[in-house]
Amino acid sequence: MASSGTSVIVIGGGIVGLACAWWLQGRGHTVLLIDGAGPGEGPGRSGSLAALGVLMADSFHRDRGRAWELRQRSLELWTRWRHELAERGHPIPYRSGVLLLAAEGDEEERLAALGARKRALGLPLEPWDRRRLEQLEPGLPQPCLAGLHSGRDGQLDPGSALAALAADGRQRGLTVRAEAAVALRPDGGGWRVDLAGGGAERAAWVVLAAGSASGPLVETAAGVPAGGDGGRRLLEPVLGQALELELDTPLLTHWPGAVVWRGVNLVPRPDLEGGRRLWLGATLEPGREADPDQLSGLRDLGGAAPEWLREARVVRRWQGLRPRPLGRPAPLLEQPAPGLLLASGHYRNGILLAPASAAWAAEQIEARPTDG
Ligand SMILES: Cc1cc2nc3c(=O)[nH]c(=O)nc-3n(C[C@H](O)[C@H](O)[C@H](O)COP(=O)(O)OP(=O)(O)OC[C@H]3O[C@@H](n4cnc5c(N)ncnc54)[C@H](O)[C@@H]3O)c2cc1C
Repeated sequence: MASSGTSVIVIGGGIVGLACAWWLQGRGHTVLLIDGAGPGEGPGRSGSLAALGVLMADSFHRDRGRAWELRQRSLELWTRWRHELAERGHPIPYRSGVLLLAAEGDEEERLAALGARKRALGLPLEPWDRRRLEQLEPGLPQPCLAGLHSGRDGQLDPGSALAALAADGRQRGLTVRAEAAVALRPDGGGWRVDLAGGGAERAAWVVLAAGSASGPLVETAAGVPAGGDGGRRLLEPVLGQALELELDTPLLTHWPGAVVWRGVNLVPRPDLEGGRRLWLGATLEPGREADPDQLSGLRDLGGAAPEWLREARVVRRWQGLRPRPLGRPAPLLEQPAPGLLLASGHYRNGILLAPASAAWAAEQIEARPTDG
């Protein structure tokens, strides 16, 4: 808990902004969350709602460095946060287990080496041989040479996570304003945030978590006029499409969690419609325009979909934008000016990395509190 709270404006009500706002408010700061979503939609109407919610921390290909540490910290924090939120009446559906599959020989070797390295660190990554994989019902996509099961990784429902953080945040005193921020200006030792409607809000600190819109907003803080495109060099959007399918039988409860095959996530949703729903995603399409061919390639797994998957009915399709840093590793967690924190560019792992990003923001603010 912070020894004395300060005032903070968080811009952006996606998973990263909401996690920051909720965590900071709970630590005794006075937080205003500003999101550009239209009237009546409130916070949480963001690209984060498009995510599949797969948390791949232990199964990350590295085992040291910043990206690894953020993942480990997030996994631990999500476990704590989920319990805390459930106790406070806001449960988030979660299912543990991620099964990585090798479709080619070099991938098989890579998975075996990854498993061995992580087991040496004491992490529960278990090799699955072909015989064991063949016993799974319904059958996995082919070819499928070997598997690696990560017991602590898993999948949480992003929509429920956004709703839980927003509802609990409000109960803790978090204030929300549904209006777009258009510019940031230094203001008497703190910051002024200009809003689309002509008004402004002031605080000692600003946390900028507006997805790919964070780039142009950072530029305004450095005096570049609003509406310029210079800041777009910081982040670029990468569109992702995903599908929800309905199967004939509720067999997906037998899979040991989400399955990753050739980069595609097959996510059983045992909590939806008696276990007959599966999420399938996601495409990687630089830019903002969805390509129908990419969606059909996803739908039939590039021609490799097993019969039960081909026969499943599409009940929902959606898309969203991931903020990807240009020429720098994800995510961007930095302080471009005193009192201004950038927490964006989480690209493909914003749901996973939201708690560690919020903890980072709190550390910056509490290391050098400003009166406001
Ligand atoms: C199809 C798909 C599948 C994915 N699957 C996974 C997954 O399995 N696991 C995982 O960890 N990640 C996944 N991701 C990635 C994840 O969704 C992103 O990394 C994450 O959503 C980034 O969150 P964010 O809060 O930074 O940005 P966003 O979710 O984009 O939120 C930004 C918010 O800022 C607001 N905003 C924008 N401009 C302004 C402004 N000027 N003023 C005020 N507010 C503004 C927007 O309204 C929005 O609410 C997936 C993404 C996609 C598209």
